[in-house]
Amino acid sequence: MRMYDVIKKKRDGGVLDKPEIDFFVKGYTKGEIPDEQASALLMAIFFQGMNTEETVNLTLAIARSGDTVDLSGIKGYKADKHSTGGVGDKTTLIVAPIVAAAGVKVAKMSGRGLGHTGGTVDKLEAIPGYQTTLTQERFFEIVSDVGCSLIGQSGNLAPADKKLYALRDVTATVDKLPLIASSIMGKKLASGDDGIVLDVKVGSGAFNKTFDEGLALAKAMVSIGNRAGKNTRAIISNMDKPLGRAVGNALEVKEALEILKGGGDKELKDLCIELSAAMLNVAGLGEMAECRATAQGKIDSGEAFHIFRKMVRAHGGNVEYIDNPEKFVIGPEKHEVLSQREGYITKMDTEKYGHASLVLGAGRNTKEDKIDFGAGLIIKKKTGDYVRAGDVLAVLYSKSRDTFDEAENNILSAVTIGATAPTPVPIILGKVK
Ligand code: URA
Repeated sequence: MRMYDVIKKKRDGGVLDKPEIDFFVKGYTKGEIPDEQASALLMAIFFQGMNTEETVNLTLAIARSGDTVDLSGIKGYKADKHSTGGVGDKTTLIVAPIVAAAGVKVAKMSGRGLGHTGGTVDKLEAIPGYQTTLTQERFFEIVSDVGCSLIGQSGNLAPADKKLYALRDVTATVDKLPLIASSIMGKKLASGDDGIVLDVKVGSGAFNKTFDEGLALAKAMVSIGNRAGKNTRAIISNMDKPLGRAVGNALEVKEALEILKGGGDKELKDLCIELSAAMLNVAGLGEMAECRATAQGKIDSGEAFHIFRKMVRAHGGNVEYIDNPEKFVIGPEKHEVLSQREGYITKMDTEKYGHASLVLGAGRNTKEDKIDFGAGLIIKKKTGDYVRAGDVLAVLYSKSRDTFDEAENNILSAVTIGATAPTPVPIILGKVK
């Protein structure tokens, strides 16, 4: 087989068969197919698209390109949750212990943040001592004993995706449904879970800006997961405002703890209950209404908090911070962003909140950047709130006051203030089964 012929076939609108897709993915992962030919094929796919069969075959080839995790050594149903990325998304920290408390195992490998979205691994590392790299043996042991373990992604999981994603990033071919769906689901299928719940974000802080884009992606990923024998479903959630009130690593851990203790932001809690319920539902623990009640019960009884604490201890983390969250070092510099106008907040550009957090030191622009765990922001006013000039919109935290001007400009330009209250938009926009 020649790569030239595969590129030409797709360029001319043909349908690639499984051997052709396997040839491309294997050859590119091994370095036998050069970047220029892989780029040409990606661009041909970008313009000609892929049908369902091709997308499934591409996903399976990505999933099998490196190590696959065999979770069969862990007893019980194993469920995973994946978010397509947003600002202030700390749901994994909350959902994993809730689901584990209800008896479903969560053996979750998460990523680091890059750009305006944060990564779960960075949030966990904000807990002093928490180890995100473990041997597979210890990872399995914690999942079996505690019910959940959250670690960083293994180096050789879906290596084809690592190479292809980096190439897509520099060839303007990221933004294409079959490529996004196969990239996300390739990694999920390699992770060995029995069931998968996808949180597809839609809005100004997400990859998909419109509901229709999110719905199409959710349908494609659910169909791939189900065809691969994983019980898969998706929730489409609103990212037209940051999730919850906190953005930044230690601040988000503190907010997750508030929810686990029965308090916190209502929308964040509602989304966590819905995601947890969907994970219990894929595991066969009842209808959604029953699973929602179970999830809420695990917060109310304190079991979910207890499991989170136990998981932190098992990972070497200092549980004094879990028991006394005021111990987390935040800032130490602090600055309030004040509204310059009076009226209703009609819109928030969520991505700009993510950028503000990045500027304050909570994120990284390149993989090598070091994160300041105590940096970030607390949002005081959100879409729908009425503000007067001088009201606090957000409180910024950083090691350096030098970051405040740029972060403040991001927040002020992110907020649109108008005379009429906007129509409320729910946090959960849709579901795909
Ligand atoms: N996230 C991924 O993992 N892959 C994509 O292509 C887009 C978002």
